[in-house]
Amino acid sequence: MTTRHARVVILGSGPAGYTAALYAARAGLEPLLLTGVQKGGQLVTTSTVENWPTEHGAVLGVDLMEAFEEQAKRYGTEILFDEVSSVALGERPFHLVGAEGEYTCDALIIATGASPRYLGLPEEQGFLGKGLSTCATCDGYFFRGQPVVVVGGGSTAVQEALDLSNIASHVTLVFRRPELGAEAILEDRLAKRVAEGRVTLAPGEEVEQILGGDAGVTGVRLRARDGGATREVTVGGVFIAIGHTPNTGLFRGALDLDAAGYVVTRGGHEQGATATSVEGVFAAGDVQDPTYRQAITAAGSGCQAALDLTWFLGG
Ligand code: FAD
Ligand code: NAP
Repeated sequence: MTTRHARVVILGSGPAGYTAALYAARAGLEPLLLTGVQKGGQLVTTSTVENWPTEHGAVLGVDLMEAFEEQAKRYGTEILFDEVSSVALGERPFHLVGAEGEYTCDALIIATGASPRYLGLPEEQGFLGKGLSTCATCDGYFFRGQPVVVVGGGSTAVQEALDLSNIASHVTLVFRRPELGAEAILEDRLAKRVAEGRVTLAPGEEVEQILGGDAGVTGVRLRARDGGATREVTVGGVFIAIGHTPNTGLFRGALDLDAAGYVVTRGGHEQGATATSVEGVFAAGDVQDPTYRQAITAAGSGCQAALDLTWFLGG
């Protein structure tokens, strides 16, 4: 396998990675960006993004991320489709091993974002691609005309339920709290779909079992959290939208992570806010942010990481 050296390597092609690349490229650092398997990051799994400030209406997540990529490339970022599986950060140059090659670099920006969470049911993984999905934009079309369940009570789950209500015959939204916890504008839209009979809310319930066989999902058994009464709902698809876990498994032992697995950064308002516990390694976006988790905050911290890195390299 070949080993490539770049002064700066950026891991991740979401809003944080591409913005870091744009700033590092404009600082003349000729960054190398490794996209990971999900090129464009989490936003390519959604339909429209309505809160990106320069868009007057809405922009498709896929189109927004293509624009990020173009802008990063325009100033000289090299972009490779590769996913890093191990890192050695004990001394510089840092050493990274990917599926397509090995890399060394003088400074590193980690912008590996987060991946969808699963319920943890024993049958769950067996149904992946056979009726179980974490992405309505990607897989919704396969369920046209069929009833589906969406699990989760946050903005992602509500957005998924809205999108699927245009494709599926009916959507049941299952969430464990008495109330949803999504953005108000999304909840208002959902209330209209509920009134139209296209979506049914199932508060205070959780999925006890996903039902089906080799041919795929046929239903779910729901259990009420107060009292434990169960009922079965016939569906062709189950969409899990219960949040994300930071993609930091490969940094365990190499960097300080918090109890939930997020990369610990210095924070604050001085230079080095995105510095990690290893000198020369910076982190940006959802991988170090358990709180805000927005495209705009990820992009903003990508900018900070590139500036921190530029100062670190003496720029
Ligand atoms: P991500 O977008 O998660 O990108 C991470 C990148 O890292 C990916 O390219 C991945 O391939 C790469 N990667 C991972 N591991 C490796 C590795 N080992 N090696 C190399 N690369 C790796 N936010 C909004 O502001 N507005 C919205 O409307 C909105 N809608 C959303 C809808 C959905 C369905 C979801 C899931 C999220 C939504 N968000 C929205 C949140 C927003 O998408 C995230 O906050 C944002 O994408 C985080 O950006 P990021 O760059 O930190 O990471
Ligand atoms: P989230 O806000 O963390 O919500 C996760 C939801 O899943 C909660 O309802 C949670 O319930 C539930 N949940 C977690 N674990 C569960 C389990 N094991 N079983 C059942 N339910 C479980 O995550 P998100 O909705 O993915 O949103 C993430 C970020 O992206 C947010 O910052 C959001 O603002 C952003 N986003 C924005 C938009 C938009 O602006 N239009 C759209 C999508 C996402 P509990 O509350 O009971 O834990």
